[in-house]
Amino acid sequence: FYFFAVPSGIVDVWNEYKTGINPDDPVNACFVILVRNSELEGIKSSIEQMEKTFNNKYNYPYVFLNDDDFTPEFIEGTKNLSKAEMVYGKLDEQMWGYPSFIDQSVAAESRQKMAESKVPYADSESYRHMCRFQSGFFFRHPLLDKYEYYWRVEPNVDFLCEIDYDVFKFMRNNGKKYAFTLTFTEFVATIPSLWDTVKDFRRDHPEIVKRFPPKEKSLWKFITDDDGETYNTCHFWTNFEIGSLDLWRSNEYLQFFNYLDESGGFYYERWGDAPVHSIAAAMMLRKEEFHFFHDMGYRHTSVLHCPADESVLQKCSCKYDSFVWDYNSK
Ligand code: GDP
Ligand code: MN
Repeated sequence: FYFFAVPSGIVDVWNEYKTGINPDDPVNACFVILVRNSELEGIKSSIEQMEKTFNNKYNYPYVFLNDDDFTPEFIEGTKNLSKAEMVYGKLDEQMWGYPSFIDQSVAAESRQKMAESKVPYADSESYRHMCRFQSGFFFRHPLLDKYEYYWRVEPNVDFLCEIDYDVFKFMRNNGKKYAFTLTFTEFVATIPSLWDTVKDFRRDHPEIVKRFPPKEKSLWKFITDDDGETYNTCHFWTNFEIGSLDLWRSNEYLQFFNYLDESGGFYYERWGDAPVHSIAAAMMLRKEEFHFFHDMGYRHTSVLHCPADESVLQKCSCKYDSFVWDYNSK
């Protein structure tokens, strides 16, 4: 038999023929930022770093979302931070607020009870609206309709490495659906019944579970150490998230989200969008559809991911932190 090299141009044409995608085609993508007016300084700082390290070369638009009206000061303070388009939207009551099936006095009581456990945001009502919004609604906001990929950005985070390739093209051209930089374990007190509800969903909807990849092809083992008996609480930290909006817009995910939502756990407990997204993605996607952006230095609060690879570190303004690799990432 013969070995011969196929010119790369022919490979590109073949890939385009198979997928209908030319790797150079533009990607419909945006940054999505849920933020309060009071966090203006913090979001300016995040965006300035995003522009400096990445977006001044690519000009992806920013979509700002808020449960309140953005103030003229907030809009003035952010609209010129990028050459890219900046759009500002408000959430309606369906996206931010109690659904009718929630008993608000039961929700208030459980906040009181959880306050004793001292977990972060134990008694916060708005934090619960936020987690439910990020779990089930951001991707359905009309301002995101025209986009296929998003990058979630928060106030007061750092982007610490120069990124000299188009991250969204990387995602699209490589079939990536979900990407992260940091992983964590969850405070158990915030999700006592989450996994039982996931199990109930799997039992009640075999027709949906059947459409998921087989367990060994998915990241099932990332979320459970005993083949589904219990949740090990591992999750991707969703304050940094790059993903395909179609993952969340899918009928499978929407049914999963509705099932969780109707159980009341976003309010009667304090389910975070991080475990919810992570469990769903781990069940719904194939391993190879995930991507760990090891080359992106990123800091949220006191937790830092800084690349371990010396050649990448040269483009970063952080120091490699073994804590994240050795202790925090299971
Ligand atoms: P943490 O990262 O879990 O500590 O939570 P954050 O306080 O950082 O909130 C997560 C994201 O939601 C951030 O982008 C916040 O700006 C945003 N956020 C949280 N609560 C509210 C709120 O009540 N209103 C608005 N508009 N944004 C919020
Ligand atoms: Mn945060």
